[in-house]
This record gives sequence, C-alpha cells and structure tokens, in this order.
Amino acid sequence: MPGFIPALRLFRSEPHFCGAKGDNVPRQTIFRYHLASSFCRAAARCPRSSGDRSTLQAKIVLLPGDGIGPEVIRQARRVLEAVEANYGHQFEFSEHSIGGIAIDQTGDPLPDATIAACKTSDAILLGAVGGPKWDDPNAKTRPEAGLLKIRKELGLFANLRPIVTFEELLDASPLKREIIEGTDILFFRELTGGLYFGPSGLEELPDGQQRAYSTAVYTTSEVERIVRMAANAALKRRNKLTMVDKANVLEASRLWRRVSARIMKEEFPSIAYDVVLVDSMAMHLLSRPTSFDVVVTSNMFGDILTDEASMLPGSLGMLPSASLGASGPGLYEPIHGSAPDIAGKGVANPLATILAAAMLLRYSLGLEKEAATIEVAVKKVLAAGHRTADLVRRGDEFLGTVAITDHVLQSLV
Ligand code: NAD
Repeated sequence: MPGFIPALRLFRSEPHFCGAKGDNVPRQTIFRYHLASSFCRAAARCPRSSGDRSTLQAKIVLLPGDGIGPEVIRQARRVLEAVEANYGHQFEFSEHSIGGIAIDQTGDPLPDATIAACKTSDAILLGAVGGPKWDDPNAKTRPEAGLLKIRKELGLFANLRPIVTFEELLDASPLKREIIEGTDILFFRELTGGLYFGPSGLEELPDGQQRAYSTAVYTTSEVERIVRMAANAALKRRNKLTMVDKANVLEASRLWRRVSARIMKEEFPSIAYDVVLVDSMAMHLLSRPTSFDVVVTSNMFGDILTDEASMLPGSLGMLPSASLGASGPGLYEPIHGSAPDIAGKGVANPLATILAAAMLLRYSLGLEKEAATIEVAVKKVLAAGHRTADLVRRGDEFLGTVAITDHVLQSLV
C-alpha cells in the first residue's frame, strides 16, 4: 500500500513548536499554523518549563452522535488512549451530544453546552448524526442542522478528504485494480460558501407555478484562503494542484479561476497547477484517478466529487476527513453516516474513525509520529487479513467492531 501513509500526511518533517504566530519558524511550521492552527493551542499546553517538548496535554471533545456513531467513537477513543499511554501524553476527553440524540435530550441538534465545550477544546472527534427516527420532513429541526452549525460556529471552511486505495482492498472496489492502484488524492472542499449558503428562495408565480432558486456566492478572500491551504499541502506532497470549477458557465467559477491563477503564479510558482471543469473531473476520477495529487474546489462540487471518489477505495468504512478553520480546533470524522441498518449489531467498521483520530493527532496536535503509528497499525491489520463485514464478500468470515480494534491496538508499537 505505498500511497497510504504519504496521503494522510501533509507534513514530511515534524516541528514541535510552542511559538506564537509570526515567530521566525521554519516554513512547514508556518504551514501548520495555516492548516490547523489549533495545533498552536494544544502546543501552548506543552510542558515547556520542564523543557520536555515530546509530551503534550490536549482537550479532546468526543461527539458520538447517532446510529453507529457511539460504537465507532468508543473504539477510536481506545486507540487514542493507547497512544496517550504509549507516548506519555495527557488527553482530557469529554463527551457531548449532537444530532438526533441531542434533539431527543434538549430539542436542539447542537446544544449550547456542546458548542462551549468544542470552542474550548484542542480538537473534536465526531461519529455521525441522523437516522430514520428524525427524518420527518415536517420536523422543526433535523440532526444535520447540528453539523452545519458546528462548522459555522468554529469557522471550519476547509474539508480535507484523503482518498487512498489500500493494496489489500483493491478487489473490494467497483473499479478495476489497474485503474485505481496507487490512487492518492487529497481533496480540499470549501465548506462555508457557495450554493449551499448563498441567497435562496421559493416564490409563487401568477400562473400557479413555483419558482425556486439557490445562488452560488464567493468572495475573493474565501477563494484565496482555501487555495493557499491546498497549495501548501501540495508543496508537502507531489507538487501538483488541480482546481475544479465550471468557469465556462458560472460567474462564481470565473472568480475561482482568476483568483486561483493569481495565487498560484505569485505565491506557488513551483507547483504544477491545472484547472479541470467539474463535468470532466467526474469522468477523470473514474478513468485516471492516479494522475491527481491535491484537488481544490468549491462547496457543492467538492460535496459531489468527494462522494464519487470515496468509491475508489471500495468502502465508506475506511475513509476519514478533517474540517479546519483559520484558528481554533479542527473537527475530525469518518465520511460515512450513522448506518442505522447496522447500528447496535457490533459489526460497524471503526477504521475510518480510527484514521480520523490519526488525522486529529497530526493536524490539530502536531503529533506526526503518533498519527503515523495508527495508520501503520491499520495497514498491518489489513495486511494480516483481518476484515470487518463491509470488507468481505457475503458468507466470508469477518471481525466485529471491537475485535478489529483489538487487532489495531495489538499492532500499535
Ligand atoms: P451511511 O453512510 O450511514 O450508510 C450507507 C451504507 O454503508 C449502509 O449500508 C451502512 O450500513 C454502510 N456503512 C456506513 N458506514 C459503515 C461502517 N463504518 N461500517 C460498515 N458499514 C458501514 O449513509 P446513509 O444510509 O445514506 O445515511 C444514514 C444516515 O446517516 C442518514 O440519516 C444520513 O443523513 C446520515 N449521514 C450522516 C453523515 C454525517 O454525520 N456526517 C454523513 C452521511 C449520512
């Protein structure tokens, strides 16, 4: 699985700094501030007086949510606790409600207590929200509203989604092995602007029809900040950045194209930069996924393309994601939903959430070595042939949620 570790790793070196923003620090450290400035918050709790920079104290908020959320979060916590013990860190965990369970408890999918805990944390690990119980279209509020609100409250404007194929699971993908082998893409999806947040409305027309509209709106600075973040990531990977838009039709895309071209020319001349129309990108992802390195795009295009790309590795149960802002804690989660069809059965695949915990250690706490240790452990478990139900053919043997985590824990060195 050659592409696995590098894909999840944005930083090749490992500077552990407690300095303030603007200090004279190496480039990769400044990048870390750009990418996940919550690192700075956690690092502020480094036991500096002892001169020991290798251990760290951090507040981690767990938001288990609904369905299989609590099951997979419980396992990710076991892994984080093992890392904490192995490396001498001190993680302070607290659990708070979000989504359907929060609606049941408080009437609000994101209670104030949850927001307050998240805002004072160093990083957040989320399970999933939603389920049939809360699907009534006439309901006053929905679990997903909690997710949108937490992103807004924390200013999380960038969603990072690594798409990496696992050598051991290539045959689980609906695509041919020779097409997907070696896929290693890091998507940056803009998360707080565009069509999902622009002016929208529904009007009654005189002829009895209804007219609905949603508007894609972006500002220069919204484009600049995510393009910079993606370009900084490309510098630490294979030096390639693809910007996806629909500039032949949409004015907002034309702004993306102008702003990106300027930023890349002025600030990142060493990166091989290209632009691809979103409809072409939908095809290229299935025909030549290995030709992409870092991909940056707007909110809706990113939503659709990352879901399409998530099929490349074969199972939703393997893919983590991170949502980051300019400051404050990052939010880490598996990309899958609450899987109500298997909730409570003990068969959910916890590996995506465990890999999300690895991203949390890397991006928010700056613990590169610890993050890589988890990723290597997951790789070892797969290489040893251990599988959860979603990764085997019907009738084949598989391990449950707890048992596969036991193997991950045994593989952590
Ligand atoms: P889903 O991802 O929950 O499930 C899709 C399929 O994948 C199901 O068959 C499920 O059993 C399987 N699956 C998902 N995760 C798995 C895992 N870890 N291990 C094994 N199998 C797994 O998507 P859905 O069924 O469309 O949505 C279910 C609910 O989740 C809905 O209420 C939806 O709104 C919500 N949802 C939440 C999030 C989130 O919290 N970020 C994301 C997507 C969907």
